[in-house]
Parts: sequence; C-alpha cells; structure tokens
Amino acid sequence: MKADFFKELNLNNISHAYLFECKDSNESHKLIDNFIKKILCTSNKEKPIFCDECKSCKSFNGNSNPDYLEIFPDDKDKIGIGSLRGDSDKNRGIINVLNETSLISNAKVIKINCAEKLNDEAQNYLLKILEEPPKNSHIIMLSSRPFKLKKTILSRLVKINIQETGLINEFNGIKIDPLFSEILYREYDLDAMSEKEFNFLSDLFKNTIESLDNFNFSKERILDTWNDDYLNFRLNVLKQNIFQTILGKFKKTNNKNLVITSSLNEERLFLFLEEIISLQALLANKVPINKKVQLDAIFDFIQ
Ligand SMILES: [Zn+2]
Repeated sequence: MKADFFKELNLNNISHAYLFECKDSNESHKLIDNFIKKILCTSNKEKPIFCDECKSCKSFNGNSNPDYLEIFPDDKDKIGIGSLRGDSDKNRGIINVLNETSLISNAKVIKINCAEKLNDEAQNYLLKILEEPPKNSHIIMLSSRPFKLKKTILSRLVKINIQETGLINEFNGIKIDPLFSEILYREYDLDAMSEKEFNFLSDLFKNTIESLDNFNFSKERILDTWNDDYLNFRLNVLKQNIFQTILGKFKKTNNKNLVITSSLNEERLFLFLEEIISLQALLANKVPINKKVQLDAIFDFIQ
C-alpha cells in the first residue's frame, strides 16, 4: 500500500463522491476497498485506518456489509440504469442504500466499478444523486478512462489518480513520442481511435512541437497557425511541455530541451501554465474570445 495514500485522501474531511482514476487491478481494488472500509468502520475515528474488528469491518471482509453496495458492468459490459436502481436480489439499488440510515456502519458507501461503462441514462440518474447527495453517504467511482464520463459528473467528483502508468509507446507499429503518448492517454480513447485519426493527431503534434522549437519560434507564426479548431490540442502540447520541463523529465523525451519553455525559470513556468489553463477553461466553456489576442498575451511570457 502506498504510504501516503490515506494522507492524500484527507480523512478528516471525506467527500461525498470520489473518482479513482485507476486500472481494474487487484492492487487498485485493495487500496480503494481499504479506504471504503475506513469510511464504514465504526471504531475510533482518530485511527488512521480501519480497525478490522468492528461489525462493519468484519461484514465488509465477509462481503455482507448492508451499508455497502458494489456496482459492476452487466453481461453486455455496460452499466445501465437498472443496475443503479436495483434489478436483482443481490442489488437493492443505490438510492435505497443511500437513503436508509446506516445499519451497522459509520456511513453508507456505493462503489461503482468501471464507471466509464455507465450509459447516458445511468449517468443522468447518478448526476441527480450527486447534485443532492443523501446525508452520510459516499459514492466511490473507479475508472481507467474517466474522460468517457459526462463533464457535469466529473466536476462533482474529487479525483484521485492511482493509475499505474498506462502510456503506450506505439500505435499499430508506429513509435510514439512519450509526450504525445501522454496527451493521447489523458484525452483520447485509443481503443476506438482509427489510424486516420491517429495520423492526423500525430501530424498536429509534430507541427505544434515544431512551432515551439527554440530555433523556429516566432510569435507571429504561432498567432497565425494556432488560431484554428485545434487550439485546445496545441495548448495541451504546450502544457505537457511545461510539465516535463518542471519535472525535469526532458532527458527522457526526444525533445531535449529545445522548446521555448526551457528558457523560463520555474516561477515563470507556473505563471505561463496558469495562463494556459485559464485560456483552456474559456475554450471549454465556449466563451467567445479572440484567440489571437489571448495567444498574444500568453506568448508575451516568451522573450
Ligand atoms: Zn472497524
């Protein structure tokens, strides 16, 4: 178990809803189940973790805690509204569990496995619950591909990343730049991506990197070429570059400090990053902006 895992979760202030970004692996489940057990445990709350002795802990270990419900994808590998409402003897429905007073535990917890498999209807149903969560209840969602969930849901979850690295280094035999891989992994569904789409993004990535190259850099050129429908993607490339610069990871990538971000000190890098993130927020919220003016202001950071 990661030593600082529980610390990171701030157990004095447990949220109503979490998203664990993780693979469907035994290791992830073990960590998350321990966290759930801690929420449910009735023993002295000062303890950093669960007691494993109270009624709640014991029944959790025996898979029979009545204040806890686990949701899985169905035979068709989807989670429909029936699974949430309760459609079998084993499943009382999440609303029933959440609205009841806890029977033997400190709280009530729902764990949703492979949350990216929730269909639209189920996500809408869940959203209503997340908007007004019943007292003393917690929803824990697990997903390796959270970008498939509605933004309205994601915005209501506390996100914890325990993802073991899932970066790919090739696509259909083509080698991928680690930085590009990072962006693909965070923003796209690679299983569903066609070769055509991949090639398009790959070209866009190369072209964006090239425009950030120390020796090529020209603000005017960026203002002209980035002012298109792919601005968000380009900003992601820039953002990843900054992350890599901050983390000193450049040695591991192919970019070898050649990009413009390497000329900035750490403080400037963070300010630059903030500017990029604010612009991305404007784009995401479809605020009408003059992209050129915004870019002009951001790239003032580069002398
Ligand atoms: Zn306990």
